[in-house]
Amino acid sequence: MNRQMKYTLALIAAFTIITGCSSNKAEPTPSADPTASPTASATSAVAPSATPSSKSSATPAPTTKATQTPTTSPVPTANAGKNGAVGVVAKPESITVLVNKQNSLPSDYEPADLVYPDVPFVFKEKIEKRKMRKVAAEALEKLFAGAEKDGIHLAGVSAYRSYSTQKSIFQRYVLKDGEEKAKTYSAVPGTSEHETGLAIDITGSDGKCAAEDCFGGTKEAKWLEQHAAEYGFIIRYPKGKANITGYQYEPWHLRYVGTELSKELAAKGLTMEEYFKATPVSK
Ligand SMILES: [Zn+2]
Repeated sequence: MNRQMKYTLALIAAFTIITGCSSNKAEPTPSADPTASPTASATSAVAPSATPSSKSSATPAPTTKATQTPTTSPVPTANAGKNGAVGVVAKPESITVLVNKQNSLPSDYEPADLVYPDVPFVFKEKIEKRKMRKVAAEALEKLFAGAEKDGIHLAGVSAYRSYSTQKSIFQRYVLKDGEEKAKTYSAVPGTSEHETGLAIDITGSDGKCAAEDCFGGTKEAKWLEQHAAEYGFIIRYPKGKANITGYQYEPWHLRYVGTELSKELAAKGLTMEEYFKATPVSK
C-alpha cells in the first residue's frame, strides 16, 4: 500500500469518528457542525488510535487499526445497526447508564425529574436544552460554584435533548445528505447522551469555542479536566479514546455519573465503555 492510499484510508477512518456534539444544538447550522468536526477528526482521530493511553500525537502516522477500519466497516453505526445490533438499555433512568452508538435509550424514554439548573448558559431562554435531571443539576451548580472560587467562569451550552428533538435534527440531516452520511456526523435518535438528561456541554462564560475544538487547552477546559470528577462528572469523550467511545476528544462534554464512579474512572483513566467492558464503538 502506498503512502497516498494509506493517507486516504486514514482520512476515511477519521471521518467515521465524529463529534458527539455536532448535533447538540437545538438549532444546528448544518454548515458549521459538519465542517468543524471532520477537519478536526481528520487530524486528531487518527493519532489517538496508535496507543490510546499514551501521548500519541507525536506519531501521526496512521496505524494498522486506523487503516483497516475502512475496509471492514466504514461507518461504525451502520455496522452496529445491522441485525439489530444496537441494544436498548435496560435501565435508562440509572445515573450510570451507558448510552453510545451501540446502546440506545428507549424511544419513549423521558427523564421524570428534569429541572433548570441555576447556572448561567450562553443563552437566556428557559428552553429544553437548559434542563438536566435533578441530581445532575444540583451537582452542576456545585461544580460551577467551585469553579467560580478558582476564578473560572463557566456557562452551559446545551444539556437535555428529547428523543423527538434528536429525531427532528437527525431527519433534517437525512433529508440533506441521506441516512448513511447523516449517521457519520449526527447521532441516531436514542443514542445521544444528551437524551439522558445527565450530559451537558460547557464552555467559558465568554461563549467562545462553545462545543468546538478550540475549547481544548483553555483554562476552563483544564479546570474541568482536573475537577469535574470531584462533583460526579466525567469528561465523557477523553483524548485518545475515540476508537472506544466512538467520539473524538470533546473537552466540553460532561456526563454526570455520581462521585463514586466519576472518581474511579478519573483515577484509573477509564471510559465508561472500558469500565463496563462494553464493545468498543469502533468494533
Ligand atoms: Zn455534548
